[in-house]
Amino acid sequence: MSEQIPVQDVTPADKDSDNVDLYVQREKIYTRAFTGLYRNLRRVGGLVLFILFFGTAWLNWDGRQAVWWDLPERKFYIFGATFWPQDFMLLSWLLIICAFGLFFVTVFAGRVWCGYTCPQSVFTWVYMWAEKVTEGDRNQRMKLDKAPMSGQKLLRRMAKHGIWLGVALLTAITFVGYFTPIRQLVPDLLTFEVGGWALFWIAFFTLATYGNAGFLREQVCIYMCPYARFQSVMFDKDTLIVSYDPNRGEKRGPRKKGIDYKAQGLGDCIDCTMCVQVCPTGIDIRDGLQFECIGCAACIDACDTIMEKMNYPKGLISYTTEHTLSGEKTHLLRPRLIGYAIALIAMTSLFGYAVSNRSLVELDVLKDRVLYRENDNGRIENVYILKVMNKAQRDLTFMIEAKGLDGLIYEGQREVRAAAGEILSVPVELSIDPEKLPSSTNDIVFRIQSADDPSIQQDSESRFIGPSVR
Ligand code: SF4
Ligand code: SF4
Repeated sequence: MSEQIPVQDVTPADKDSDNVDLYVQREKIYTRAFTGLYRNLRRVGGLVLFILFFGTAWLNWDGRQAVWWDLPERKFYIFGATFWPQDFMLLSWLLIICAFGLFFVTVFAGRVWCGYTCPQSVFTWVYMWAEKVTEGDRNQRMKLDKAPMSGQKLLRRMAKHGIWLGVALLTAITFVGYFTPIRQLVPDLLTFEVGGWALFWIAFFTLATYGNAGFLREQVCIYMCPYARFQSVMFDKDTLIVSYDPNRGEKRGPRKKGIDYKAQGLGDCIDCTMCVQVCPTGIDIRDGLQFECIGCAACIDACDTIMEKMNYPKGLISYTTEHTLSGEKTHLLRPRLIGYAIALIAMTSLFGYAVSNRSLVELDVLKDRVLYRENDNGRIENVYILKVMNKAQRDLTFMIEAKGLDGLIYEGQREVRAAAGEILSVPVELSIDPEKLPSSTNDIVFRIQSADDPSIQQDSESRFIGPSVR
């Protein structure tokens, strides 16, 4: 007998309508406030990140903003170091290191990044706190939403949106302040003298923060974040994940405190649904691991509180592994984790080496379009423009020389002084007796070296062209 594909009736409720709505409308999530170890950890982590984000923008270093992307000048200042577009390879390295760091953490402890440090989560927790302060806890908010508009409702709504917008505006100003010096941006804003672009980006990031943390919330994690989609392939049976222990919890059900519930065939779960009510993504962790779970451990805190009240041992929901749940041994050290750790250590070391050995002078050699010419003395001459870029944060004097051919005569500035961050164009002529030219195309090297600090030097290869050698 042939198998049949199961079908589902999707006829719209309104039979006269031709439209079939395939989009399930989002149900608003009313999270319940809770306390506990993991909430405290998340608060401490969030506070540290907030202090870093909002505070770093105001730090100064050597008379300029310590962390500053100077886009018009195409320079990135981070404390004592200046990075130029030529250094952007290092940025790619850094991003790869971050990716491997994330892979390592995910294999080891699941989505702790999402639950504790992702800006989307951190700002959403702050917005949820503002919601609770202004509109009350879960039941009060549900009641308020259903209630008709009144003076009190309007006031509460205004207070909530006022805090949301205030946080969003501060975030946007700080973020833009990493690109336009914040000590100049804020007074300009207060005196309405801020530039059009800065204003545009402040408005953009204010709306983005307000919309993401206030309204989109878990939808960003569920529908927009790619990490949510691929994190499950990184999990293995030894990854720490937030899990409900069905062996201990089932059969779930309500019961009177103090009764011998085990005799009645009940497990430790009293089916209070607190774990669902505190979940910012609105899922029931008792249904097993789901991609919507951001690993925030709110359900652990909620359930532990219930277990305490019931005088049951804590940990019905906990950070655990699939192996532990099935009674097997968990292996902390496993090939994949070790592989990521080795890759991470190797790339971080290489990155550290590349940054510490980064040349603070850049030399680009541009050869003149005229291949060569013969001067009045019968010597073969080539003309070059040397672009000297002082990437150090202080003025430096540089010595220039050309090597690679015996009898090469250098004409032009041999000593140049470049201010911090300055790019100089130095015209140079090289000439040689044609008898000494070994070939029509000859490799030569320009070397630039700081007279103040000889460790700051750079070589750049070029060619010396002459007539065909018979
Ligand atoms: S909080 Fe704990 S006891 Fe309550 S429903 Fe969830 S798992 Fe069961
Ligand atoms: S199931 Fe638990 S850990 Fe996962 S998102 Fe919900 S509250 Fe957080």
